[in-house]
Amino acid sequence: MPVSVAHGELVVEILGAGSGHPTASRDTSSLLIGSAEGWTAVECPGSIVHKLEACGLTMGSLRRLILTHKHIDHVYGFPHLVHAMAIEGLRKEIHLFAPAETLGTVEEIVAVHELADDWYPVIRRTEIPIAEPSELFHLSGLRITATGGAHTCDTVALRFETQAAAICYSSDTRPCAAVTRLATGADILLHDCGGPHRLRSAFSAGHSSAREAGNVATDAGVRRLVLMHLGARDEATLKECQLEAQTAFGGPVDLAMDGMRWVFPGGGKCRV
Ligand SMILES: [Zn+2]
Ligand SMILES: [Zn+2]
Repeated sequence: MPVSVAHGELVVEILGAGSGHPTASRDTSSLLIGSAEGWTAVECPGSIVHKLEACGLTMGSLRRLILTHKHIDHVYGFPHLVHAMAIEGLRKEIHLFAPAETLGTVEEIVAVHELADDWYPVIRRTEIPIAEPSELFHLSGLRITATGGAHTCDTVALRFETQAAAICYSSDTRPCAAVTRLATGADILLHDCGGPHRLRSAFSAGHSSAREAGNVATDAGVRRLVLMHLGARDEATLKECQLEAQTAFGGPVDLAMDGMRWVFPGGGKCRV
């Protein structure tokens, strides 16, 4: 992992590719996005400090943290991140972006763990509206936009763009027209996949089957689909998901893995 990113480049690293029930090779879902402007973490698994260090980064490298929704597999590492920053003596603020409902959950987490005194970094909160697409950030060649998804609680999908590439992360969602619009023309769509379509009734209606993810990729006209938040646990079912999505999409489909990364150089060819 390059610690600094050249102007125009976009770096995407999967820190965790799994569902709320992690496996030995796939932790709960989270991402790291790098541009010349700095590093953005998306979701906060329990071992995010360890994951950053494994990427050659420190907690102090993070410009912002985005939590897409309040579910435990997306937020449970947040109190530990705040505590670890305090231990390290980092008094810089944490800039947290999240929907209002998630900010409420964070408020409760901060209260339960008593993370609000002077020893801890200040948490600067920015609400992400879910009712309509919104631009969260646009500076130094990086643009971040969000739109509401369709899950069992308020959630957002995210799009990160530099001059080199655009990637879209659906977070937890069933197929959703707003997410399809957000993903339009993206180089990579990282989409929720609860399992193969034959097991559709076995996982929450707030997630997507592999076939549904493939259909979203087709409708959005993306270049590559990466199945993420993988609910399937055994290799045979995971392979079934990949083939099913490929059949629906017709383009390249990957199963997300922890540590998978893409580097899009400004004006060049993608390095994997
Ligand atoms: Zn969820
Ligand atoms: Zn989840």
